[in-house]
Amino acid sequence: MANGGKPMQTKNKILIAAVSIIVIVGVALGVYFGVRNNKDSSNHESNNSIGGIPSSSAVPTPTAAPPPPPAQNGTMINGTLFPYYNGLTGQVPATVGIPGMVYTNCVTPNTFSISFDDGPSNYTNELLDLLDKENLKVTFFVNGDNTGCIYEPDVQKVLKRAFRAGHQIASHTWSHPMLTTLSVDAITTEMTRLEKALMDILGVIPRYMRPPFGDGTFGGVGNANDQKVQSTLKNLGYVITTWDIATKDADVDDNLQQHKLSDTELQAVVQKEITSVVESNPKGATHMELMHDTYMRTVRLTAPWSINYIKNLGYKIVPVATCLGDADPRNWYKNIGPPAASTPTTCPPK
Ligand SMILES: [Zn+2]
Repeated sequence: MANGGKPMQTKNKILIAAVSIIVIVGVALGVYFGVRNNKDSSNHESNNSIGGIPSSSAVPTPTAAPPPPPAQNGTMINGTLFPYYNGLTGQVPATVGIPGMVYTNCVTPNTFSISFDDGPSNYTNELLDLLDKENLKVTFFVNGDNTGCIYEPDVQKVLKRAFRAGHQIASHTWSHPMLTTLSVDAITTEMTRLEKALMDILGVIPRYMRPPFGDGTFGGVGNANDQKVQSTLKNLGYVITTWDIATKDADVDDNLQQHKLSDTELQAVVQKEITSVVESNPKGATHMELMHDTYMRTVRLTAPWSINYIKNLGYKIVPVATCLGDADPRNWYKNIGPPAASTPTTCPPK
């Protein structure tokens, strides 16, 4: 058995050696092809993965798609975009405010208009923040060259911001004079110089105006019912608006470092001006309130108080034109067109 076993052992050794070679070659081939397959599949994945870099330079680099244009929230009219006013299409409603007529109060029930005169100023941006936060639209009766020049880049910027936020922009003359002291030509120039600036900067010419000091209207600080002033404004197509609540913010405040009146004293004056008129009228009676965005404490103290007071009475706070029945912003302006491609950055010497 021992002899018969020897050839068997040799045979077995050869068989084992042969099998081993086959296994080794097989494993080697398997590893080789396996690596190749893995490489291929890994390239394939990287081609499909987000942000993957194609392995071949023959694959064109995909160019980034251009960002979609911003959604236009508003209506384009004659080249001027009225943001926040969607659907201003179709026929313009008949204008309710009558040119040459002096309005001293609102007419739409339960409305309370708030307006800010004499700006824009360094404080107007902060006021716009407040109005945004309160989600309110008001009227700005602006000047061309009063506390600052309307063409100065910063002033243009804040004016555009107010317009684009959906506030009514109205005229308060170019340089804030007493209109009754001027000739018809000079009154006309006061209006048309501001018209040109507002058309250049915003692409609109206001239909509504407020004479400085109320001069030539119901009195105010100036003269009552001046026919020269009123007929000139009528011929220019202006609806004349004043106020029934003066607030006196500009009369008693200053922008000095050391205020003449303390915050408490100032607040007391303004508060009394507002509450005395409101309380002496029937509940829900309309009002037209005048403030000035040229005073820091109007923006930070008395306007926030006033807005809160009026809201708590249940009124709807609106621009002046809206409270007179002209709720469609197309009726706030007598001309609408594309703004100028470029504007001056300074005003002519006074
Ligand atoms: Zn004024």
